[in-house]
Amino acid sequence: MPSLDKFTAEKLDKTKENDQYRSLNITERSDGVCVKRNGKELISFSCNDYFGLSQDKKVMQAAMDATEKYGAGAAASRLITGNNPLYQELEKKLAALKNTENALVLGSGYLANIGIIPALMGKKDLIIADKFAHSCILDGARLSGAKLLRFAHNDLENCHYLLKKHRKSYKNCLIITETIFSMDGDRAPLDGLHKLAKKHDSWLMTDDAHGIGIIKGNKADIQVGTLSKAAGSYGGYVCGSNALIDYITNSAKSLIYSTALPPSVLAASNEAISIIANNPDICQNSLENAQYFAEKMGLKKPDGTIVPLVIGESDAALAASKNLYDNGYLVSAIRPPTIPKGTARLRFTFSSLHKRQDIDNMCALMSTR
Ligand SMILES: *Cc1c(COP(=O)(O)O)cnc(C)c1O
Repeated sequence: MPSLDKFTAEKLDKTKENDQYRSLNITERSDGVCVKRNGKELISFSCNDYFGLSQDKKVMQAAMDATEKYGAGAAASRLITGNNPLYQELEKKLAALKNTENALVLGSGYLANIGIIPALMGKKDLIIADKFAHSCILDGARLSGAKLLRFAHNDLENCHYLLKKHRKSYKNCLIITETIFSMDGDRAPLDGLHKLAKKHDSWLMTDDAHGIGIIKGNKADIQVGTLSKAAGSYGGYVCGSNALIDYITNSAKSLIYSTALPPSVLAASNEAISIIANNPDICQNSLENAQYFAEKMGLKKPDGTIVPLVIGESDAALAASKNLYDNGYLVSAIRPPTIPKGTARLRFTFSSLHKRQDIDNMCALMSTR
């Protein structure tokens, strides 16, 4: 057996050879869409704070007030003493926003998926997930021990085929998709998936991490989401029936055995969800910015606030990102294994706070590259 340092160094060499090496860059966010990295001011097109709520004065004040009132941390899991009254308020708001009977807030979107899926599914069951479903959905499926099949991205016919072929060999069946896809920015065929689930005696679960404020009328049985992106705060949630929520509260290990969220985070989420619920058009500016950019670049009209520009090889995507960085724009290169080989890309995320001039300037840089 090699020493631990030799083992890890060899593994890292492999990731470097494949242009998959990643490092943590210190990044300060202080105002709107501006960030500071290595002393350099950049306009970010890589934050998921689509409506600028992480920098909203009311959201920030709510977090500060809650810290003053309740302290900095929760001190225990929700089932012990961590169930601050702010949870109840937030869950009421989430259920109302999603038009479900109830909601449950968990530690993060990641913790929601890896807690909920294994709580519902087991060895005799079948999970059919979209090929591009987020890593934590796949981790949750694997943890459950259920059989996991993947249907071609957004392909109802392929999903139908898998159901016809495999559904009857398993006890329960769960179909899982994202609403707006995190790496491609496109929208799932929710109505079609809902019909397939009904027809083949299956449950439908959606992950709305990038769809809050955009996706309306989702009828999925289990609606997971995050408070860490458009809500500008932190945390995960699931919306659904009273029975579902009661059961998840009693069985999701990531809820039971992990400390509750800090009061400041809950208060920020509460304020942000109120803002989203009371301003149904809040997403309009970020959506219009994304569509403006896509049209200028000759790309497909986006369904949400994410626009991918697929480049191909990882080194080329890194070089394109570096070129933008040198000129004052932060746009992450997304590389395998996050996305399929040969589809390395620049992933642009749009905020309601971006100015058209910044989008124009960035487009000009890319056309002269
Ligand atoms: C970001 C993301 C998550 C994870 O949510 P966090 O709150 O950041 O842990 C889960 N699912 C999807 C689809 C995501 O994009």
